[in-house]
Amino acid sequence: MALMGRMMTDPLLISSLLKHAERHSGDTEIVSKRVEGDLHRSTWREVALRSRQAAQAFARLGCAPGDRVGTLAWNGHRHLEIYYGASGSGLVCHTINPRLFPEQIVWIANDAQDRVLCFDATFLPLVEKVAPLMKTVQHYVLMTSRAHMPAASAIPNLLCFDDLLAAESGDYHWPQLDENTASSICYTSGTTGNPKGAVYSHRSTVLHAYAAALPDAMDCSARDVILPVVPMFHVNAWGLPYSAAIVGCKLVMPGPHLDGKSLFELFEGEKVSFSAGVPTVWLGLLNYVKANNLKFSTFKRTVIGGSACPPAMMKSLQQDYGIEAIHAWGMTEMSPLGTLSKLTTRQLSLPAEQQQRLLEKQGRAIYGVDMAIIDDDGRSLPWDGQSSGNLVVRGHWVISKYFNHEDSPLVSVDGEPGWFPTGDVATIDADGFMQITDRSKDVIKSGGEWISSIDLENIAMAHPAVNEAAVIAARHPKWDERPLLVVVKKPDAQLTREELLAFYEGRIAKWQIPDDVVFVPEIPHTATGKVQKLKLRDQFVGHKLPTA
Ligand code: ADP
Repeated sequence: MALMGRMMTDPLLISSLLKHAERHSGDTEIVSKRVEGDLHRSTWREVALRSRQAAQAFARLGCAPGDRVGTLAWNGHRHLEIYYGASGSGLVCHTINPRLFPEQIVWIANDAQDRVLCFDATFLPLVEKVAPLMKTVQHYVLMTSRAHMPAASAIPNLLCFDDLLAAESGDYHWPQLDENTASSICYTSGTTGNPKGAVYSHRSTVLHAYAAALPDAMDCSARDVILPVVPMFHVNAWGLPYSAAIVGCKLVMPGPHLDGKSLFELFEGEKVSFSAGVPTVWLGLLNYVKANNLKFSTFKRTVIGGSACPPAMMKSLQQDYGIEAIHAWGMTEMSPLGTLSKLTTRQLSLPAEQQQRLLEKQGRAIYGVDMAIIDDDGRSLPWDGQSSGNLVVRGHWVISKYFNHEDSPLVSVDGEPGWFPTGDVATIDADGFMQITDRSKDVIKSGGEWISSIDLENIAMAHPAVNEAAVIAARHPKWDERPLLVVVKKPDAQLTREELLAFYEGRIAKWQIPDDVVFVPEIPHTATGKVQKLKLRDQFVGHKLPTA
């Protein structure tokens, strides 16, 4: 018979993260730029107390284990208190992306059967509009103080979050839950079909938070000041609210103030060392910093993911501002972290240009996630940096099923079951560096060959007159599909179609160069800041290529 370990078996619970932060980093600050406009200062100790009060308040509202508490909120201390208060007490924190269409928000809240809905004042008009359509919500809680409550609202019995907390003692003991209990839910954006819920557990969240803090991941420490630009309303701000508790560092929350100027002032004022966000956010911040000839004094590194980080952006962060830009890849179904690009010892002696090319890839898997690339028959493909295939993953924080869906989304690799298909197409090199070439639905199939839209976008983004670029497939009578480049120019920049196409020469194989360029004032984005290719394709569905 196997000999069992003689170690303690405390479950991995989200409440344990907060208990640790309170006990060992109680005085460390949590700073929030709030919807109300003020800069609020709190500590891990205070957040822990208010989280316990929130747990008591939800219980007083009649919430029972497993009930969903919805949120429509920016990054801020109250949102953090709901994260810990709801999950810690056995409820499920359901973050809803307020940038979705109102119909999608209603659909998601009804699908998740939210019992309570907590929201920032920004979203009061939205909630007033959708409340009559909410089938299960019994309590609406405005995340503000008594002084900021509206005199009247279309929502009957609108509750005040700070009042609810003030009525509780905070004398509360976190329950010892099964570590596989659901802790939170996040829905995918549902670019095709209805959104689907990823249900995280306490165990998956804690393991992800440990891994995310490692040096080859986000490298979080007690010496950091972390400002998550990534929203708490989508995939738990990439787990930063949890990793920050593990290392006990200062957290700075920007609230709704995400424009270049506000962010820059917050970075400087609070001495932020580390941040994370999608490329479009850095575009805004860099444009502001450049236009005003500013420099960061404490900002040292950032993780960029959610969509491919253009190499030109990585270079600018590194060379112009001395900020280490770490490229990362993941998805809602993966909590979200899968890979990050950091060099190994051996690679440190490679020529700088080769190092740069590695760093531009999406990177290596962190322990807890394994990956493979497969062909359409489920056979694994070699890790040669050339063969591209469907990227599949498995691991401690990867979903096995969606909420409310009993069918398994998993596939087999060489006959071994249990892999999640990401919908991405990628290569993996001999050192394990993965590179996304496309989402499977975005690849351009030209005469039987695949062209990576990301490669073409990255080249365009390296042109100094280009602000943003997206490449989509356009119909072609001979080649089936050919790349069409859609570009937003930098303000006041001069650039012609011919100049931009000439820029591709020598940078990519001739047959992959886009067939046409269209300049537009704006490229549509999804609720998570990605280029909305579906919409773009609809917009240019009849586009006649000059080569056709
Ligand atoms: P959505 O917001 O579209 O529901 P996610 O936020 O889960 O979905 O996004 C996951 C997808 O985003 C990945 O499957 C991949 O296509 C894309 N993605 C994420 N990070 C990167 C990256 N670094 N490079 C390229 N694509 C990325």
